[in-house]
Amino acid sequence: EEKQFHCEGCGVKLQSESPDHLGYAPPSAFEREYILCKRCYRIRHYGEIASISQNPDEYLKKLGEIANTDSLVVQVIDLFDFSGSWIPGIHRHIGKNPLLILANKTDLFPKLTKWGRVREWIYALAKDLGMKPLDVVLTSAVKGTKMEEAIAAIEHHRRGKDVYIVGTTNAGKSTFINRLIRDLEGSFEDVITTSPYPGTTLDMIRIPLDDGKSLIDTPGIVRSDRLSEWMTPEELKVVVPADTVKPRGYQLQDQQTIFLGGMIRIDYVKGERQSFVCYTSNPLYIHRTKSENADRIAGEQRGKLLVPPADPSRLPAWVKHDIHLNGQEKQDIVISGLGWISTGSEKATIRVWAPKGVQVTTRKAII
Ligand code: GDP
Repeated sequence: EEKQFHCEGCGVKLQSESPDHLGYAPPSAFEREYILCKRCYRIRHYGEIASISQNPDEYLKKLGEIANTDSLVVQVIDLFDFSGSWIPGIHRHIGKNPLLILANKTDLFPKLTKWGRVREWIYALAKDLGMKPLDVVLTSAVKGTKMEEAIAAIEHHRRGKDVYIVGTTNAGKSTFINRLIRDLEGSFEDVITTSPYPGTTLDMIRIPLDDGKSLIDTPGIVRSDRLSEWMTPEELKVVVPADTVKPRGYQLQDQQTIFLGGMIRIDYVKGERQSFVCYTSNPLYIHRTKSENADRIAGEQRGKLLVPPADPSRLPAWVKHDIHLNGQEKQDIVISGLGWISTGSEKATIRVWAPKGVQVTTRKAII
């Protein structure tokens, strides 16, 4: 009987016939004692790959091939960073194929989250971005929440076709697929290596389905307008939330400032005293001060007290975003890749300083 080999990196059954399928290792690899599948091999060499700047055009070209297929497209979104994890121009890339949205990482949201409102907000955003999804499933791939619902929705909407799973890096696509395979086959653990660092999934990987069709894991698209893209792996551990976010509230009057680490500065310029609630990763240091001291503190303390980043010169320079609240309803100020700050419902002028290129937007409060 033939001996089965498994990848030392991820445990997948190894095969040497089909380079595009899961668990491929070249025949020469089988002569070694420590065998890695092609995918893990590449991930181990990530440092090397990462230093070559990734070419978004290559990714988009690959993605554009989906337009010529007849398939279901599943976009995995990081619910904590919805607009930052949206694939720009997805409606062009996938052509006429239907879209299913998996809004992932629900576990990061506080218990009080109004899921109905979140869902409404997702449909509205998708519409603004030119898409009308067939369905939105709110999942937590890490916890396994709503996995059955997600699988059922995929099965229902694919109508016997191939399924392309797309997403920007870090949305949780690999985690979702790992779990999906595990749930479907119940046999192996962590088939696809996941990682908290952007850009780990590099190949299109075909996972065969029972009816001869495939589930195709596409490369994660890197977006440079997220704050998280500027962080080192160590800093990401502080910036990207790992647990349910505990809201941190501050009663601010005008002429007060809060710093989110050394990354973001928020000046309450004008308005009545009101609350600002930060929904950012729990270990992130938040510093509050008078606005008159903010320049000095920023100058002296960025990279010291105000971290991350350890080295502020690595980040693009701060630019200001002036936000005017009309005082009608609570708003969220969303900083792509970091989280959001929920305002009170007072009329206000707020100035957000963020590294140039990082998206700062507002929306109706979702909590
Ligand atoms: P990919 O780049 O889209 O393939 O993302 P990964 O699956 O590698 O996940 C990126 C990071 O997000 C990893 O640190 C995961 O552990 C984390 N992650 C994935 N899914 C979830 C989820 O449902 N909740 C939380 N909190 N984290 C998740």
